Amino acid sequence: MRLILLGPPGAGKGTQAQRLVDRHHIPQLSTGDMLRAAVAAKTPIGIKAKDVMDSGGLVSDDIVVGIIKDRIAEPDAKNGFILDGFPRTVAQAEALDVMLKAEGMKLDAVIELVVDQNALVHRIIKRAEEAKAAGQPVRKDDDPEVFKTRLEAYNRDTAVVAPYYEKAGKLTKIDGMQPMDQVSAAIAGVLGH
Ligand code: AMP
Repeated sequence: MRLILLGPPGAGKGTQAQRLVDRHHIPQLSTGDMLRAAVAAKTPIGIKAKDVMDSGGLVSDDIVVGIIKDRIAEPDAKNGFILDGFPRTVAQAEALDVMLKAEGMKLDAVIELVVDQNALVHRIIKRAEEAKAAGQPVRKDDDPEVFKTRLEAYNRDTAVVAPYYEKAGKLTKIDGMQPMDQVSAAIAGVLGH
């Protein structure tokens, strides 16, 4: 199964992706996680991406498309994957179409978690507090001011990605403001199990 989860930062994509990993035994391909690992390892990509990530902007299409291309080619992604945080621009969505076609792969579903953006800042403050309480590192870009910049980047560059898939007849919208278990149930309904 190949699935894309769309929605603004803080919409619950990561949580739902993790549940799908447990249920379907396919990997979650999160460009955000991969970039954070590159930053931590101080790889050339990480060094390039760090400042733009810290300020809440988008890393260049070339970099993230390259990362995803390599990742999709790995053996554990052969039976399927969940894309979380990619594609974030129409150029990335188009590059993904080309990649999938070249590999003879098809998307099974594109799911958009539709949320009230005013509620997201409160969610993100909670995510930072919970991480802190659990002794986990708090993401620098979960600072409320940086989060607002991420939301602006979403509205400027990424909000057009859902209509791209809608036009292709591939998009399903789910109310992401429901309790997490209901969101999971709605996703299972879309996937047929
Ligand atoms: P995320 O964990 O998905 O919220 O991503 C964290 C940050 O990584 C974003 O704010 C961007 O700076 C960068 N990033 C992740 N995925 C992408 C992408 N597909 N395109 C551009 N930048 C990305």
